Amino acid sequence: MTASVPRQDSQKNNGLSAKFFHKLASGVPGVLFTYCLSADGSQHWFPYISNRVEALFGLDPESLRRDAEGVFARIHPDDLVGLEESVAQSAADLTPWCYRARLKMLDGSYQWYEAHSRPERQEDGSTIWYGQYTNIQHYKSLEQSLRESEEEASYQAQFQKLMARFSADFIHLGFGTIDECIDKLLAGIGGFFEVDRAYVYAFTDGYTHMTNTHEWCADGVPSLLESQQKVDIRNFTWWQEQIRHMANQDAVVFVEDTRALPPEALAELGLLEEQGVRAMICAPILVRGQVMGFFGVDSVRVRSWRADQSELMFIVSGLLSGALERNRLEEDLVNQSVRDPLTGLYNRRYLMPRLHEMLAASRRHGERFCLAMFDIDHFKQVNDSLGHLAGDVILKRFTTLLLAHTRANDLVSRYGGEEFLLVFNEVAADQEGSVVTRILEAVRGEYFRFKDDQARITVSAGVVCLSEFQGARVTPEILIREADKRLYQAKEGGRDCLVDAGGLSRP
Ligand code: GH3
Ligand code: MG
Ligand code: MG
Repeated sequence: MTASVPRQDSQKNNGLSAKFFHKLASGVPGVLFTYCLSADGSQHWFPYISNRVEALFGLDPESLRRDAEGVFARIHPDDLVGLEESVAQSAADLTPWCYRARLKMLDGSYQWYEAHSRPERQEDGSTIWYGQYTNIQHYKSLEQSLRESEEEASYQAQFQKLMARFSADFIHLGFGTIDECIDKLLAGIGGFFEVDRAYVYAFTDGYTHMTNTHEWCADGVPSLLESQQKVDIRNFTWWQEQIRHMANQDAVVFVEDTRALPPEALAELGLLEEQGVRAMICAPILVRGQVMGFFGVDSVRVRSWRADQSELMFIVSGLLSGALERNRLEEDLVNQSVRDPLTGLYNRRYLMPRLHEMLAASRRHGERFCLAMFDIDHFKQVNDSLGHLAGDVILKRFTTLLLAHTRANDLVSRYGGEEFLLVFNEVAADQEGSVVTRILEAVRGEYFRFKDDQARITVSAGVVCLSEFQGARVTPEILIREADKRLYQAKEGGRDCLVDAGGLSRP
């Protein structure tokens, strides 16, 4: 069964000596071989194989001439079955046999080889392949790095595409749609980064508290938004340090495994463990140069973030910063047009359309609807005796009292110079009278201070309710006119009192 170099044949046919043949083989970069498979497939051997197998794989060419098993034992287990099948196929239809497989080198590493050969059927039914195999590790490595850089380029391109889409969304932001846009951005970015949570937090002035304003969670990941309102962060020393870094050096907070946090982050670690967070990155959101919050992503598992992850985070937080800054400017503009600059209360321009809406809503829901007009008594005298600036201080202080005695959804506005209109929202029966009474009492009991002076003032009020008009078509203007008339009656009646449907009362 032993076969060797086709010595006689070559000598006979081509006049080539075995020595010459070996020399030729040694000059070829790969391994030259003839491989023989018995007709029943039970035996195989290399009648000829270059001596190079010794240097490359530590295989003895002589023993391979008796049994090919040594080479097969070197094939990577994942490539072996496919290789055997392809040999069987080539033996069956005598098509050229070409295959790529990993072979174990002398040093134990695997390298890719590519074989090319042509089969020839022998008289005894066995098949011999004539061919060579060469090391293609270099190409495979190139292929791999090419694939990686293609993946990288496509990752970058997808990220750019995502950002372009959201930039356009933010640029065409309609008024009042920023929250919706931020939620969409978080969902897009959360999915792209394959994280468990993406969120935006806002800091209070002085970084004493932070509030989760927007959040996206992957499927099955619990929301933290509700538990993350006004979180006191004064004791989070490590986190305070990170906030300073974010502010001063435009740095991101990069955590791949929360358990590797430094010892001073003990309080923070406690919170993160409670939330099930194992890795996170946060980038600052800057508005007019101030860190007003941060954008972050969480992972419930330890994560090795991409090297360029912080840059990508910055791009997202930059987009958020720009959008929030613009939104704040727009809000400021709107506020300036609807608010009185001295007291910060809504002005008459804002009041009238709101009053129409509120009246219509109360009618629809069958709710009580009342309003009270206030006017400071003898305010001209205050101005005359203490000066206009003192008058301003009183107006501001009176505003604070008004707000303190009303609910957030009542509407308080500065109707004119020292006239204020209070619109009650869903007020319970007869409650408006006691609210107005309390306001009158509070003003009477207050010492209004400025510099070294102090003054005491009183106010008068006219109160009117929709229910008094019993089905008649009532407009806000009619209600205001009636309140004004009653206010005048209160002044006539001696001031520091209120007039409503029941007449004058002096608390
Ligand atoms: P009455 O008790 O009848 O209401 O007397 P009054 O002096 O308050 O009435 P009047 O309406 O004659 O005077 C209102 C004064 O309020 C006149 C005006 O100078 C002053 N005033 C209006 N707006 C402001 C303001 O923004 N700041 C200050 N300091 N004073 C204001
Ligand atoms: Mg007045
Ligand atoms: Mg007045």
